[in-house]
Amino acid sequence: MKRVAVLGGGPAGSVAAERLASAGLETYLLDEKLAWEKPCGGGLTYKAYQKYPFLIDNNLPKKLVTRTVLTDERGGSVGMRLSQPLVIYSRLELNGMLLKRAEESGARIEKTRVLGLDRRSNGWSVRTKHGTIETDYCVVATGARNGLRDVGTQWTGADTMYALGYWVPSNQEHVDIHFFRGFEGYIWVFPRCGHLSVGICGKGEPAQQLRQRLESYMRERSILLKDAVFYGHALPSLERPAWRNNRVAGDGWLAVGDSAGLVDPVTGEGLYYAIRSGDLASQVILDEQMNPAEKAAAYRQHLQ
Ligand SMILES: Cc1cc2nc3c(=O)[nH]c(=O)nc-3n(C[C@H](O)[C@H](O)[C@H](O)COP(=O)(O)OP(=O)(O)OC[C@H]3O[C@@H](n4cnc5c(N)ncnc54)[C@H](O)[C@@H]3O)c2cc1C
Repeated sequence: MKRVAVLGGGPAGSVAAERLASAGLETYLLDEKLAWEKPCGGGLTYKAYQKYPFLIDNNLPKKLVTRTVLTDERGGSVGMRLSQPLVIYSRLELNGMLLKRAEESGARIEKTRVLGLDRRSNGWSVRTKHGTIETDYCVVATGARNGLRDVGTQWTGADTMYALGYWVPSNQEHVDIHFFRGFEGYIWVFPRCGHLSVGICGKGEPAQQLRQRLESYMRERSILLKDAVFYGHALPSLERPAWRNNRVAGDGWLAVGDSAGLVDPVTGEGLYYAIRSGDLASQVILDEQMNPAEKAAAYRQHLQ
């Protein structure tokens, strides 16, 4: 195998591209936005930066938080001190750093939208807004809103959480997590450099209702909506049957990160799984002993 196209340049795609290009494959990374402030808390847990120390050992602006306050609507609050901090980034910064690492490893980065894929006998034609790229293999990393019908996971509405919130120009030194009785989800307040990410994610309620819950929480805590910027996005949150049938790999392709549904269905943590799956996918692709069917099977095995 000589040439790989990585479709999407979020954390999952950037890490896959970095690893593939470092190993000498001609690697194209195609993303319609490149580094952007994706709606996200931006929180990286200890398991992520323990496994990938470059996620903490760098000069990027970030917030290291060790104090968390968990609150239940009726049960009161409990404070928790984390022995290892939660590291909180702006996604613009984090994505920018991961894309730069991919570029410095030799990946060719193009800002373009992928329109579709056509299977050829020995590979793929990847159709983009700016032309076609012929490639031997594809890594699908297009996130939760993957629009490529024939590749990536196939979840239903029941396998998705909606997440929405505000970037609020304010400061605090701890993380707040707030739970409600009978609601599968939670509110978070994550301090970032220069602002707070205040959001809600959950299942079984329309976005409008989630927004009302969040705004009433913010009003009660005097978190000002003035000058706050609204955001919303989908999050995979697969139910049990969807995990059993999850389509993460096929003939000549592997899916990574959100486009493979690889998000903790309870907490919504996805950054670690995006980065880890990008790394694992690249290891499988680089193994020259395996044919494409064996690669798909090996990748599924790695994810279990
Ligand atoms: C509100 C919210 C808060 C969150 N908070 C956290 C958190 O604090 N901690 C945590 O660990 N996880 C969090 N997550 C989850 C986390 O954001 C995702 O799991 C993570 O971004 C997945 O990375 P990815 O690379 O798979 O996808 P993405 O980061 O979504 O990247 C996909 C990329 O593909 C590109 N793309 C899509 N379609 C195309 C196309 N057709 N052509 C070209 N490019 C395309 C997009 O531009 C994008 O750059 C949160 C998610 C949400 C929605």
